[in-house]
Amino acid sequence: AVQRDLDIVGGDLTTTLPSGDVVGFAHLDYAASAPSIRAAADAVTAILPYAGSVHRGTGLRAQTSTLEYERARDVVAEFVGARPGDEVIFTRNTTDALNLLARALPDGTTTIVFETEHHANLLPWPNQLRLPVPATPDDAVEAVRAALRTVEGPVLVAVTAASNVTGEIWPVRRIADAAHAAGARVAVDAAQLAPHAPISLTDLGADYLAFSGHKLYAPFGTGVLTGRADWLDAAPPYLAGGGASASVGETPGDVTWTTGPARHEAGTPNLIGAVALAAACSALLRTDRTALHHREQELLTWLRSGLGPLPGLLEVNTFAPDHPRVGIISLALAAHDPAAIASTLSTHHGIGVRAGQFCAHPLTRRLTGTTHTAACGFSESLLRISFGLGTPDDHITRLITALSTLTHP
Ligand code: PMP
Repeated sequence: AVQRDLDIVGGDLTTTLPSGDVVGFAHLDYAASAPSIRAAADAVTAILPYAGSVHRGTGLRAQTSTLEYERARDVVAEFVGARPGDEVIFTRNTTDALNLLARALPDGTTTIVFETEHHANLLPWPNQLRLPVPATPDDAVEAVRAALRTVEGPVLVAVTAASNVTGEIWPVRRIADAAHAAGARVAVDAAQLAPHAPISLTDLGADYLAFSGHKLYAPFGTGVLTGRADWLDAAPPYLAGGGASASVGETPGDVTWTTGPARHEAGTPNLIGAVALAAACSALLRTDRTALHHREQELLTWLRSGLGPLPGLLEVNTFAPDHPRVGIISLALAAHDPAAIASTLSTHHGIGVRAGQFCAHPLTRRLTGTTHTAACGFSESLLRISFGLGTPDDHITRLITALSTLTHP
């Protein structure tokens, strides 16, 4: 993509410190919501004059909107390398996408999940076999293999591609191979991998993928569920209403539902969100993502080498510290409240990070309850630093300096 497409909207925001100094705002909370890129913002500006009702009505607005909405779907299909028989459904976000899939499972499906998952990939599954935090990627694969031997009927393995707490990249492909060998299907929560690395249904070995626009450099309100159509077409519509119904009779319950994405997209869809998300996908497709990866790894190395020597800060990980990860790290703090530190980073240093348990309570409890951390009196709360496209060196440097001053005054 041309550089302008990848420019961060609001990348030049400033904030005034109590000293009166004005500094550039350093957003280091990409894992919660990333800023939008110019390509997404431009797409919103371009579609707004034409915006009308998708799949409803004639006339320039309705027709342009329908065309652009379906074009957006095609771009997303390309972004995930959709195979014949896969469909792309627009949702509100990853949470919505995974809930949709949970409601589309054939009766009697067991879902195998690790307790490392974000709540969005933990809570929706009705009949789940929950596996404890594995110590290594090999253990993770082996635990899935063993669990698969104990269940009967349809099985879905739901796993995250990259952890929103540790940033660690999960051995999704190996888990998928194990699942497929046992006749199970795999749903991949790609919310955190998608902004940092190509996501391909085929390469990941995924039957389903879910991700959010607002973490992928597009604005809020749009996510994606993509994957195999058969379960989705056989399931009750996620929302009952217009667009999902092909024909409706006189008596209650007399309705024929459509198949394809429309079955689960009842109601007037979020045209602007879909178009913006597709523009972000398209810009990323046209970008040298290997170069982006190297840049992020450079920042990670620098961040970790800056924080590593500071006593009382402990980086938490599920796997070994050298395990591959995206631009996310979480720290346990020995003598400080992460929420207070995050607040001071904001007010006194113009840096936005996140403190807490990041909607992954079983995992953070486990990570902070290990003998090492518990013995030092760490709280269950963590401090998370995350970054991505457009993060300048200076934001990382400022964070290291600020954390060093705040924790060792
Ligand atoms: N899964 C993971 C790994 C996440 O990091 C998040 C967002 N923190 C979600 C799912 C949920 O995404 P959303 O809030 O956009 O639904």
